[in-house]
Amino acid sequence: MSQSPDAPSVVVPKDAAALILFSDPADPKLYWVKRSPLLTFQGGWYAYPGGQLEAGDYAVQVLNCAESDLAAARVAAVREAFEETGLLVARGVENLSAAYLTVLREALLADRISFADLLAQETLTIDAAMLTEAPRWVTPPSVPKRFNTFFFTAWVPDCQDGAQQAHIIPGELESGEWLRPQEAIERWRRGEILAAPPVLRPIQEMVRGLDGFVDRLRSALETESPHPYEFRRGFMMCPLRTPTLAPATHTNCYIVGGEELVVIDPGSPYPEEQKILDDVLETLLREGRRVREIFITHLHPDHIGGVNHLREKVRIPVAAHRLTAEAIADSIPVDRFVEDNELIELHGGKIDPDLTWRLRVMWSPGHARGHLSFYEERTGSLITGDCILGMGTAVIAPPEGNMLDYLASLQRMKELPRLTALFPAHGPAQAQVREIIDYYLAHRQEREEKILAALATQALSISELVKLIYTDVPLSRHPLAELSVQAHLEKLEAEDRVSRQGERFTLN
Ligand SMILES: [Zn+2]
Repeated sequence: MSQSPDAPSVVVPKDAAALILFSDPADPKLYWVKRSPLLTFQGGWYAYPGGQLEAGDYAVQVLNCAESDLAAARVAAVREAFEETGLLVARGVENLSAAYLTVLREALLADRISFADLLAQETLTIDAAMLTEAPRWVTPPSVPKRFNTFFFTAWVPDCQDGAQQAHIIPGELESGEWLRPQEAIERWRRGEILAAPPVLRPIQEMVRGLDGFVDRLRSALETESPHPYEFRRGFMMCPLRTPTLAPATHTNCYIVGGEELVVIDPGSPYPEEQKILDDVLETLLREGRRVREIFITHLHPDHIGGVNHLREKVRIPVAAHRLTAEAIADSIPVDRFVEDNELIELHGGKIDPDLTWRLRVMWSPGHARGHLSFYEERTGSLITGDCILGMGTAVIAPPEGNMLDYLASLQRMKELPRLTALFPAHGPAQAQVREIIDYYLAHRQEREEKILAALATQALSISELVKLIYTDVPLSRHPLAELSVQAHLEKLEAEDRVSRQGERFTLN
């Protein structure tokens, strides 16, 4: 058993606030927004209006609230919601017309007036009695960008013309909509949207009725484990701490399916992390589900570290590509070889009777020879292993790594009929699928062009090339960069574009 090192230093969360807005008490609807697919953090995900606390938020007086942090969080929630949606939750808004509110919002967005001055000028007051405090949420340590988010709920007050109308100005947000809580959950369940637990979990309580939902949510969260994260129905993610490569600190283990489940990459060798996964599976088994198989995406230690433990714990077979199975034969017995294009059908059964997850195996060599990815055909979800990551770029290190294979694998992923989300082995799920694959391809293309440009004037060794090209990478990462350059040179040699003479390489 490996010794667990000290927990790596993680990003300190920044204070943020979000506002869950309601309208139409007779037939209650909530407002949510779709984030722009171009954002690096949760691009394309669904969320509530919100953002970070600003210094000015502390300067605003809040009625019925003594605590300054909470008051500032309320101001931030109201300000962000007004900036993003045009909906203003304040006393006095009933005296303003919709057209005038639009003018005020434009002035605020253009920085012609501060939010504090805007409120004072229009004798508007933020009243804590209009904003119910919901449970706070801290982004887990496995995520590169973290927030300590204060959540509030509020009914949108009428303006002079009647109900306020929401309007999204495309930019950070792509769109927004009012919908019933039941509709929101149904769209998540069918795999049409990606949303984080602080967005979904409140809605799951709203479905049972808005009365007292915040209290029910609060008491449920006190006892619930945060694991697994189910950003999309049937794609349950457990980020477990592993001996992996920075900036990653965790490997995502995925549990996919409904009544029938498979486990992909139980990678942590650390007992306390394995226990997290054990507990999650125990809960799932208690719900009447069963685990069919453990899949391994590839041979690296941070993807296989918990396989033997889990295999003994739940007594289920292990499946991997033949090349992976051969490479790890000394440490992990693989019961079955998985082929490219194999279809694994996982039925919702008594959990989700109307749903089936159709996982199509993709042999995707490049990062490792036997690397597997899994494409779920119904929802267009791709479990990418280390082929595409949620942070940084993949490592292509020979002899396991092969740049030609890698680019072909990326190209094949790009050509999949429908891609709506990537579920990587490290970092968060991603909804901006095409953008990421294009970025990965462009990144390699750029490195290759730099190598060719450097070799155009002189013969160079791998370490000389790294010093010339990887000026943006710290020295400690140069050994990895050398492997990456080697992978590029092997590709160029195979394409007959460069030749090796001793230690050095020249253009053909
Ligand atoms: Zn790997």
